[in-house]
Amino acid sequence: MSRRRQIYEGKAKILYEGPEPGTLIQYFKDDATAFNAQKRGTINGKGVINNRISEFVFTRLSHIGVPTHFIRRLNMREQLIRQVEIVPLEVIVRNVAAGSLTKRLGIDEGETLPHTLLEYCYKDDGLGDPLVSEEEIACFNWASHEEMQDISSMAIRINDFLCGMFSAINIRLVDFKLEFGRLWDGDYSRLILADEISPDGCRLWDMTTGEKLDKDRFRRDLGGEEDAYREVARRLGLLSENDSGPGEVLDLAHHRGRLRGTKPKKS
Ligand code: ADP
Ligand code: MG
Repeated sequence: MSRRRQIYEGKAKILYEGPEPGTLIQYFKDDATAFNAQKRGTINGKGVINNRISEFVFTRLSHIGVPTHFIRRLNMREQLIRQVEIVPLEVIVRNVAAGSLTKRLGIDEGETLPHTLLEYCYKDDGLGDPLVSEEEIACFNWASHEEMQDISSMAIRINDFLCGMFSAINIRLVDFKLEFGRLWDGDYSRLILADEISPDGCRLWDMTTGEKLDKDRFRRDLGGEEDAYREVARRLGLLSENDSGPGEVLDLAHHRGRLRGTKPKKS
């Protein structure tokens, strides 16, 4: 692993050169950051769980025709992905008011929105990923009008699919973040879903108790973040009932071939 060329180290993942041109290896770390990296820490086993959850979600999305960068999972913390030119936008999809929306507009957390909201933030850590308008996106050429149409329709499709997937395991999908990238073929490019979908970038609330099962546990010092991430994986059928920890168990399960074709458990 250390002999591979490192392309980029971010807050939650490391990108290495892949085995073939146009591929990368995405390594999932346990590092956690919040509030534009002002708060830093680690969530034990998070990288292992997020690798597995993101694999599951991206695979399911590809089955409904959403193009993604995911090729295959390589091991507990790594997946092989297609290299893309990242569109410098964080696409936020909101179903229920939480986080920055509540602060910015003074809406109570937990209020169901009259319809799904899409927000775009310019990806720039130095600026704190500011919210930007579609006019600004067009003005500064961060994405074309056609690309924004593709992004918004894919985001809504992904939201509909994920809302159903999570509600089947008694989880409310409050909001989440997506990143898209361009795959070039000569002079033409098409957009595919990139980065990850995991409890790092989603707000997931238990539908019965309202308990938070995502990175807000870390942001707000609620504790129990390891258990929360593991609970999401367990409900998706990615861990068995008697699993003690994320590491060994996922690996053992993988070696026994149990994870292949595993169906999500009924909750
Ligand atoms: P950051 O701290 O910038 O959020 P992460 O720790 O999330 O970084 O590492 C992932 C980085 O890789 C992100 O900057 C993301 O935009 C980028 N990325 C994700 N998927 C791809 C891909 N398929 N090709 C190229 N870059 C990608
Ligand atoms: Mg990131």
